[in-house]
Amino acid sequence: MNLKDASLLQTRCLIGGQWQTADSGRTLAVTNPATGETVAHVPDMGADETRRAIAAAEAARADWAGRTARQRADILRRWFGLMTEHTNDLAIILSTEQGKPLAEARGEIAYGASYLAWYAEEALRLYGDIIPGNAPGQRILVLRQPVGVCAAITPWNFPCAMITRKAAPALAAGCTFVVRPASATPLSALALGELAQRAGVPPGVFNVITGSSRAIGAELTASDTVKKFSFTGSTETGRLLLAQCAPTVKKVSMELGGNAPFIVFDDADLDATVSGALAAKFRNAGQTCVCANRIYVQRGVYEAFAAKFAAAAGSLKTGSGFDAASDLGPLIDDKAADHTRAMLADALENGGRVLCGGSGAGRFFDATVIGGANTQMRVAREEIFAPLAPLFVFDSEEEAVALANDTEYGLAAYFYS
Ligand code: NAP
Repeated sequence: MNLKDASLLQTRCLIGGQWQTADSGRTLAVTNPATGETVAHVPDMGADETRRAIAAAEAARADWAGRTARQRADILRRWFGLMTEHTNDLAIILSTEQGKPLAEARGEIAYGASYLAWYAEEALRLYGDIIPGNAPGQRILVLRQPVGVCAAITPWNFPCAMITRKAAPALAAGCTFVVRPASATPLSALALGELAQRAGVPPGVFNVITGSSRAIGAELTASDTVKKFSFTGSTETGRLLLAQCAPTVKKVSMELGGNAPFIVFDDADLDATVSGALAAKFRNAGQTCVCANRIYVQRGVYEAFAAKFAAAAGSLKTGSGFDAASDLGPLIDDKAADHTRAMLADALENGGRVLCGGSGAGRFFDATVIGGANTQMRVAREEIFAPLAPLFVFDSEEEAVALANDTEYGLAAYFYS
């Protein structure tokens, strides 16, 4: 990696302000999905190190919560400034481990940093309420106070932004934080740790641990010291972690999977719809929770939309994130590539037609539009998480709404009319 500031590439974990290796000395390889090369090794930590990270967060809690909101805001603002200053290096790290095109990676760094700026401002507005009582001579006073140590597990598709979106509000409120990033993308999290230190986040307030998802997840969820747990990832894993949190009755936030409908009505402006659909479907090679999954097109414009959309999708270039011409980078790993091919094969077996794309080498897969999609196909029911865009035809608005709602997921939805 050709970084201006090489010390952003941290390969040890941050616990209590100290960079640490795993007790066992074991490491995990971080792979560049575009080339298959190992780019770094990070600690393979487990339960003991997790307990230490939680203890460090607990030890730092009283001092951090005791500072003024302005002091916390100033530190978050400095962290934001450092992220912005180092956008290019952070984007290189992100694109190297995750694969997304560099321009998208820069966009994610700006988006991730924006949470720090926003919550630096919100830190100053932790107002309470004075509410009339229900008996004479009483007033009810509501204070907002930090819940304590917060823990998070984050996914690989937005390795930077999914951390700042959780850490910034926690730190702004006076909570301390332990994050365990996805195994595929730990380097972005560790770079955030480095910048947090430089911004003046005190030791123990922001801890980053890498390693076994089960061992670390089990400790974070079972700990009595952790008062709030936040997870972004698949519904399947979320369900498991939610159950693990239940015995300690901690506060929990879950941001899980999606199966977004994208509805195109007969009266839509087709050019605007095509550019909206490209962005909603193919960002991050389709590996985004709010990606358009099922594209429903009203019969009157179906052929015209399909032709324009397939022409536009067919012109997207797939390649290394470091090639400025690439619109789609590689999929995250071989499993994701196999999943893409299996979803496509199932759609074709069930009567679908490839209108553009349909192939790719290794982890690369071209933007693919599937015509004649129907409810028998896996792409209708499952989160696709790949650059496959199935087109379904519908007649009435009622039918489109019923089809759109016919899913167990509820995260995002789009329509053009
Ligand atoms: P995932 O398999 O659920 O993994 C997410 C995180 O959970 C990773 O850090 C993973 O670690 C960890 N994990 C897996 N099994 C675990 C276990 N038994 N105990 C503790 N941690 C465990 O999901 P993913 O494939 O990485 O991410 C894609 C999913 O995230 C999609 O469903 C997407 O929709 C969702 N997502 C949702 C939002 C939102 O805002 N709603 C945003 C982004 C993504 P490893 O990396 O080591 O497996």
